Amino acid sequence: MDQRTVRVKRRPLGSWRGLPLYLRILIGFALGVVVGVAAGPSAAPLATPARLVLRLLGAIAPALVLVAVVHALLNTPLQGRVGARLAGLLLLNTLVAITVGLLVANIVKPGRHGAPLDAPGAEMAQRADPWAQLLENIPASLLKPLVENQVIGVIFLALAFGIALRLVRDRQAAAGQTDYQGLEGAINTLYSVLIEVLHWVIAIIPFGVFGIVASIVGTKGFGPFQSLGWFVAAVILALLLQAAYYLARIRTGSWVRPGAVLRGVRDALVMAFSTASSTATMPVTYTCLRENVGLREESASMGALVGANFNNDGTALYEAMSALFIAQMIGVDLSLPQQLMVVLTSVVASVGAAGIPEAGLVTMTLVFTAVGLPIHYIAILLTVDWFLDRCRTAINVMGDVNVSCLLDGRTPPKR
Ligand code: ASP
Repeated sequence: MDQRTVRVKRRPLGSWRGLPLYLRILIGFALGVVVGVAAGPSAAPLATPARLVLRLLGAIAPALVLVAVVHALLNTPLQGRVGARLAGLLLLNTLVAITVGLLVANIVKPGRHGAPLDAPGAEMAQRADPWAQLLENIPASLLKPLVENQVIGVIFLALAFGIALRLVRDRQAAAGQTDYQGLEGAINTLYSVLIEVLHWVIAIIPFGVFGIVASIVGTKGFGPFQSLGWFVAAVILALLLQAAYYLARIRTGSWVRPGAVLRGVRDALVMAFSTASSTATMPVTYTCLRENVGLREESASMGALVGANFNNDGTALYEAMSALFIAQMIGVDLSLPQQLMVVLTSVVASVGAAGIPEAGLVTMTLVFTAVGLPIHYIAILLTVDWFLDRCRTAINVMGDVNVSCLLDGRTPPKR
């Protein structure tokens, strides 16, 4: 073929998809404001794409959490006492993160500033008894937690299945059998497939943001966004408090000085913020801890490579604060037992959150379902999630750094 006749075929939407997600979301936001102001209350039906995104996120959530946890259990080298110490540190840090988040949300009350959203009606009242809810989350059958989006039940199944599969694999490998390889390969592939599908749903988020912003501005004006500004500030404050807690723990529980840690892992924190992916940042975190901070190999790999698969304190804090924020915005008071339910589900949801952009949104649908908050309210958070995702990812990585330093103990390694 004559070279001169060859035309470069431009893919439709090619340059749109070439833009980073946060830019696409900001464009959606700006267009939404314009259309909302211009169209007024007739923009109300434009909320539909955001509801669609949340339905889809809710649909993949249980499968993704199940497969992500089994995948992490199969691919992480966990052993004995260090493994138990790691699990203890992770749990403590996550509980502190959620407590900090709930305290800040209860004191600042970001959802009470600005115009409220419409209340859900009778739906919440039916779910008022948290102990009955907790019991409901113990799997009654293998499929029920998956079908009814019960995050605690899903994690329960994932742990049982993942640990059993690990044991069977190790036993078979020791006996020279290879039967387990098929299932192991299938789980790794299934994980990649679900992440691929998640990326498709994430690609619709800018359209959802456009629609939800147009619909809110058109029907309620800018009032609800005032609360959103308070929410962003409250989340940042809580994340900073969590960072201060990490540094204080490092100061008292490890030989490394907090200032030296911050300088040493600077690159990892910047990368976490810019990629919004703690998994993508993992190798950089590990290298910073080994080469700049000087931790022992075992502590750096346990915290930054093994722990990173399960440790998402920033995500846990954010999910708990989001549940409270939306409850405040719709004028529903979550009682103390209900807030405990938020704590419990946020802990398990953060364990199941993959270390990729927007994964927290997926598991948030499960936290909302557990306390009976309708998931379509998460739509308003889509507008700021791209930014808060970056902030909470940096804290997720700082959590891994904290655990590595604590595992390294108070005595510096001999050089
Ligand atoms: N993006 C976060 C991470 O990679 C997960 C989340 O969405 O909260 O750690």
